[in-house]
Amino acid sequence: MPSQTKSFLLQRFREMGIQPATRHGQNFLIDLNLQQLIVDSADLSAQDVVLEVGTGTGALTALMAQRAGAVVTVEIDGHLFELASELLLDCDNVTMLQQDALKNKNTFAPQVLDTLGAALAQDPSRRLKLVANLPYNVATPVLSNLLSCPYVPHLMVATIQKELAERMVAAPWSKDYGALSAWVQCQADTDIVRIMPPSVFWPPPKVESAIVRIAMDRARRDQVPDLRYFHQFVKAIFIHRRKFLRANVVAAMKKFLSKAEVDAILATMNLPPDARAEQLDVPTLLQLTERIRAEAPEWTL
Ligand code: SAM
Repeated sequence: MPSQTKSFLLQRFREMGIQPATRHGQNFLIDLNLQQLIVDSADLSAQDVVLEVGTGTGALTALMAQRAGAVVTVEIDGHLFELASELLLDCDNVTMLQQDALKNKNTFAPQVLDTLGAALAQDPSRRLKLVANLPYNVATPVLSNLLSCPYVPHLMVATIQKELAERMVAAPWSKDYGALSAWVQCQADTDIVRIMPPSVFWPPPKVESAIVRIAMDRARRDQVPDLRYFHQFVKAIFIHRRKFLRANVVAAMKKFLSKAEVDAILATMNLPPDARAEQLDVPTLLQLTERIRAEAPEWTL
C-alpha cells in the first residue's frame, strides 16, 4: 500500500483526471504520523468492527485493517471508491460501500446499518468503533446519529473541525456549550487528542481541525431514561441562545404545555425566570427533561 503523501495523491488524481470535490469535504490527511495517531488513539484489536465514513483513497482504511477484526468503509464518490478498491484489494476484512453514509440528517443509510449489524453479529464479543477523518459537512450528523443508533459505539475517534470539537467538550456557562455538548456528555467522555493546522491536509481546508476521542460510558448512558426525548429537548431549548430558558421551553412545548405548567416545572427546580439553557449542567438538563417528559410524554420536536 503506497503512503498517502501529497505527491502520491497529486499523481493518482492526475492519472484519473479528477479533482478533489469541496462539496464532499475532500481534504485528505497527508501527514503520515497523524494517520498513525488516529489509528493508535482507537486502540484497535480483532474484537473491533470499525465504521469509517469517507474512505477517500483508503489510506486510513488500510492501516485500520491491519489491526481491526473488520472494517466497514463508506465512500460517496465513485472515482475515489474505484481508486480505493484497487488499493484495498488484498484487505479481506474490509467491506467497502459506495454510497452516502446517511439516509438523511437524522439517520444512517439502511445498508450501512445492515452491514455493521452483520459484522457485529459474527461474534458476541465484537464491538463497534467509528474511526474516520470525517467530511466536515456531515461530521455532526454522523457523530450525533451514531450516539442514538441501534449499535452503540464503544469508541469514536474522528477528525473534525476544531470548532465542533470545542462544542463537544464545552462546559456550562461557556459560549460553546449547547445541545451537542449535552448530547455527547450525557453518555460519553470526550478528549481533544490533537489540534491540527490546515497544512496537514491536501487540499488544505479553511479552518483548523481536531482529532477527538469519544469514549462511551454505558453506565452514564443507561441513566438517561429516554435518549431520543433528551436529544430533541436539548436541541429545542438551545435553539435561540439569546432567549431565556423559559421562553425556549414555552415555545417548544406550545401545543403540549401551558405557560403556567412550564413555570410550575421550572419553579420546582428552583430555576429563576432569567435562567438560560447554557447555565444548566447535564444532570440538571436531564432532570428538567424528565419533569417535562412526565407532563408531555408525547411531545416531539
Ligand atoms: N479517509 C480519507 C483520508 O483520511 O484522507 C478521506 C477523508 S475526506 C476528509 C472525507 C471523505 O468522505 C471524502 O473522500 C468524501 O468523498 C467522503 N464523503 C463525503 N460525504 C460523504 C457521505 N455523506 N458518505 C460517505 N462518504 C462521504
